[in-house]
Amino acid sequence: MHLSRFPRVHLAHLPTPLEKLDRLSKELGGPEIWIKRDDCTGLSTGGNKTRKLEFLMAEAQQQGADLVMTQGATQSNHARQTAAFSAKLGMDCHLLLEDRTGYEDSNYNFNGNVLLDHLHGATTETRAGGMDMHAEMEKVAETIRASGKKVFTIPGGGSNPTGALGYVNCALELLSQANNQSLRIDHIVHATGSAGTQAGLIVGLKAMNANIPLLGVGVRAPKEAQENSVFKLAEATAEKLGCPGVVQRGDVVANTDYVGEGYGFPAPSTIEAIKMFSQLESILLDPVYSGKGAAGLIDLIRKGHFSKNDRVVFLHTGGAAALFGYTRAFEDLMSHSSPVA
Ligand SMILES: *Cc1c(COP(=O)(O)O)cnc(C)c1O
Repeated sequence: MHLSRFPRVHLAHLPTPLEKLDRLSKELGGPEIWIKRDDCTGLSTGGNKTRKLEFLMAEAQQQGADLVMTQGATQSNHARQTAAFSAKLGMDCHLLLEDRTGYEDSNYNFNGNVLLDHLHGATTETRAGGMDMHAEMEKVAETIRASGKKVFTIPGGGSNPTGALGYVNCALELLSQANNQSLRIDHIVHATGSAGTQAGLIVGLKAMNANIPLLGVGVRAPKEAQENSVFKLAEATAEKLGCPGVVQRGDVVANTDYVGEGYGFPAPSTIEAIKMFSQLESILLDPVYSGKGAAGLIDLIRKGHFSKNDRVVFLHTGGAAALFGYTRAFEDLMSHSSPVA
């Protein structure tokens, strides 16, 4: 396993910090909670897609692309990081945004990630929820190619074997950080969606024989479907890396109990997790991914899933820019009140 064999554009701020969350650990009465700050990857408010895009955009450059296309939900963090990466490399960017919630308020549709997409100069088109977005993207890409542009398409979430290399790299980085500090890690927990993050991490952890259980907290699909899509991508990623078969189906574990009503709809536990992290640790989670991942972490701690002496690392995958698209979820905080009862 040698990542330098793959083309890469070094743009992320790495390594991201690994920090201890004292106040949250105390509030929950143990285990010791640590956080890996992939919300601090540096590109246009950061997030996990930047690590994947380091490898994906290098492929786009190698192929001589002058326009990059991708797709995602209206408040997609992946779309925003792709728009930012394209701007930095002097490529055009076109985004297909799927309306998965039906929210009609202007913050959801024009603020948060959507505002940043446009600030980075991307063009956008919207689609109704439930369409085959990948097929739509390839269709639009063909019409742009017909006009003479060299279009490079990136799958939703940047989740293919190339993108997943970014999270193989994250596993290496996290292990070296922990080793250098003699920090024993007992569990890693993170939000899982399009599967690239979990697939890359599990390949890296298994290839290093780290023996650290990894738990993905789902944001959309049911457990079986989520685990299957992570496993499939992990197998292809291991193949690409030259260590085929390193991941077994049983290594891939997802918990999808915290999805709530569905993708893009924050559940009460999501909102509680966002408030706890912001009020105890001054860390901003998001309403679609990291808030659900943290809700899973918090609930599993309360249910005694981890032992008190365990050290659990929560991988913060970013997404706080979406908070400004989800002001509707925080209206109860907006009323003025006095600190004196
Ligand atoms: C995309 C995303 C995830 C999920 O990562 P996948 O690789 O798609 O599974 C988690 N958190 C945030 C903030 C994201 O934008």
